[in-house]
Amino acid sequence: MTLQRDTILHIGFDDTDSLQGSCTTHLAVIIIEEIDRQVTFLDYPRLIRNNPNIPWKTRGNGAIGFTIKIAEEKVNQVIVTIKRSIENYYQPDENTNPGLVVVKGNIPEIIKEFSKRALIEVLSIEESKEIATSHCFDHYFIGNGRGLIGGLAAIGNILNPRNEDFTYEIITYRSSDLFGTKRRLDKESVYEMDKKLAPEVFNNIDEETNKVLICPAGPDPVFYGIRGEEAEKMLEALSIVKTLEPLDAYCIFRTNQGTDQHFKYADERIENYRVFKGDIEITSKPRILLGGHVILQGIIEENKKLVDIAAFEPSKNFKQKISKLLPGDKIIAYGGVKYNQEHETHTIQLEKCEIIFISDHYYETSPLCPKCNKRMTSAGLNKGHKCKKCGFKDSNIPKVKIKIVREIQRELLIPPAQAQRHLVKPHRRYGLKKKESVKFVENWWKKYLNE
Ligand SMILES: [Zn+2]
Repeated sequence: MTLQRDTILHIGFDDTDSLQGSCTTHLAVIIIEEIDRQVTFLDYPRLIRNNPNIPWKTRGNGAIGFTIKIAEEKVNQVIVTIKRSIENYYQPDENTNPGLVVVKGNIPEIIKEFSKRALIEVLSIEESKEIATSHCFDHYFIGNGRGLIGGLAAIGNILNPRNEDFTYEIITYRSSDLFGTKRRLDKESVYEMDKKLAPEVFNNIDEETNKVLICPAGPDPVFYGIRGEEAEKMLEALSIVKTLEPLDAYCIFRTNQGTDQHFKYADERIENYRVFKGDIEITSKPRILLGGHVILQGIIEENKKLVDIAAFEPSKNFKQKISKLLPGDKIIAYGGVKYNQEHETHTIQLEKCEIIFISDHYYETSPLCPKCNKRMTSAGLNKGHKCKKCGFKDSNIPKVKIKIVREIQRELLIPPAQAQRHLVKPHRRYGLKKKESVKFVENWWKKYLNE
């Protein structure tokens, strides 16, 4: 009898998607199908969203991580299988630079640190190559290797329930012969599902427009994705939502979507494309730009730097409330930093905003008549005031200051679901009980055998 030795592999990959309608989670399901009989998954595949402000990333900067148990002698064969799947799936494109990283055994601290930075910074391909070369069992890339960054980040960000919040997403996939055709979805079933499972599911429907948000647009292989708190609920959602075409597969991912994980590690540093979190005192009145964006100026309390703060048009109510801020008000700003070369200014593009202090503002007006209590009018420059009703005049009576009624209150503002970034924690998730563990359901993925 030979003793079969098992080992743990952590596998991360990224940047296999392209604008032509392929998707990294879809590749994940293809790989799971290939290797499932040879390995044991110890966790759901993780869909890790990284810094959303990276301009050269498509589709919300998502990478995939697997944690599997595998017999030692099968390790090389499984890695070869995964590389081949990436090569087959990949569509050559200068903006698509797939990367695969494999760690055997414990995850090195340097990779955990790297994954935290990937949430908030712009990381270099060179650094990821160095780490992959010296700390990983294997790595592989096509093109410039940019995908190694997300691959490492997906391995290091293990979403341990002890110290990180996490959510699930069940993603369903279309049959390949239907790619590019209109998705046939029974929208009523989505409203029904959301009503039944709330608050255990989120961002299915836009709060302001009532629009169903679960389907991507265009040629994407994804039919729909539903986000929520527990895997069992994801399966329940799957059973309620009706599609009018046969699905090809589904898979439940464990994710950092809807958790604010990037803000957990963010700070007040102002660098292009970095994630920002910090207290700001407003120093200007709002300006409304062409197209409806709202811009304010403010000073960062911690480092006294002046910045622009922007709320963009699709965020409707959010943007409207931001446009009511005035000098002296204080906010905690959460967003991405963008450098404007032409004006040499930095702008924080808000993803959420907490109003923490509302300053007093006054306007000056004529006093009330001391005789008849009617509002007086100015008698001319430096001539005091007169009363039109009773004729009373006083050349010394001063103007009075009246406090402006502010149309905002101290509150946390979050854009509606359709204008939200993947990582942003929506209102519905506030106040939910913290998850203590990862419950692994048996049917976490499935390939349908459509004939
Ligand atoms: Zn009067």
